[in-house]
Amino acid sequence: MPKILSSILTCIEHERLEFELIEVRTRGQYLTRLRSLTRQEQAVWDRREDEALTALVNHDLAHGCNV
Ligand SMILES: [Zn+2]
Repeated sequence: MPKILSSILTCIEHERLEFELIEVRTRGQYLTRLRSLTRQEQAVWDRREDEALTALVNHDLAHGCNV
């Protein structure tokens, strides 16, 4: 399937989860640039990014919308 078609067919929930992941990553990187995070803060952002990624991967597996 041509790439343009598959990107149109990406489901809304997938896009939402993908957007969340990007947002968590971007905000974490932004905070890191503003000041150095404590180890605990860093762990919180790592966990949030992990959770967002897991949610996206789980959705793809369950829904099969990213194959
Ligand atoms: Zn989906």
